[in-house]
Amino acid sequence: MITYSKKICLLGDFAVGKTSLVRRFVYNKFDNKYLSTIGVKVSRKTISIPRRSENDIVELVMLLWDLAGGTNFNQPRASYLRGVSGAILVCDLTREATLNRLPIYVEALHEISPHAHLIMAANKSDLTEEYEVDAEQIKTVAEQISTPYYRTSAKEGSEVDKLFRHLGRLLVSESTTELP
Ligand code: GDP
Ligand code: MG
Repeated sequence: MITYSKKICLLGDFAVGKTSLVRRFVYNKFDNKYLSTIGVKVSRKTISIPRRSENDIVELVMLLWDLAGGTNFNQPRASYLRGVSGAILVCDLTREATLNRLPIYVEALHEISPHAHLIMAANKSDLTEEYEVDAEQIKTVAEQISTPYYRTSAKEGSEVDKLFRHLGRLLVSESTTELP
């Protein structure tokens, strides 16, 4: 069995649910309180991903870098983006501006880690009454930044595992091409 370890960062505006998505994925918990992330917090979770045949399992250690929100990637924040293999771009379905700012995060990331794999999480899907963006708008931005996307709810857990596993598969399939 092969083990890979990959650095993954969560990017997106304040309070979109970056910390909550990590918390749901790693601990299967949710908290309604808002505790602003200061600087960065790194969590890890190992997942198994079948590859080619059922017997060929890859272990992927996901090092999840939960960055404080905001598009200012001047030094020293830019250094967090070094060596990033994958990024989760998070927006909040109840705040349109958070979706429209995602391309700025992608640009900042690509300047430092141009080959990072991306995936998008349109989060807070449980707040149906408060949606400020529709399916078409999400699709447009996802196409613009060339990412698969999921409508997640860190609160209810929907699509959260799918999101992280999809990114995991992207990271592992990249690694297979590096093998002899
Ligand atoms: P961050 O700043 O991007 O890390 O955002 P947080 O994870 O701290 O979440 C900000 C606020 O939104 C908190 O009060 C969370 O409880 C809430 N929140 C996060 N995800 C969801 C979700 O999927 N649904 C709902 N209803 N609230 C959420
Ligand atoms: Mg946070």
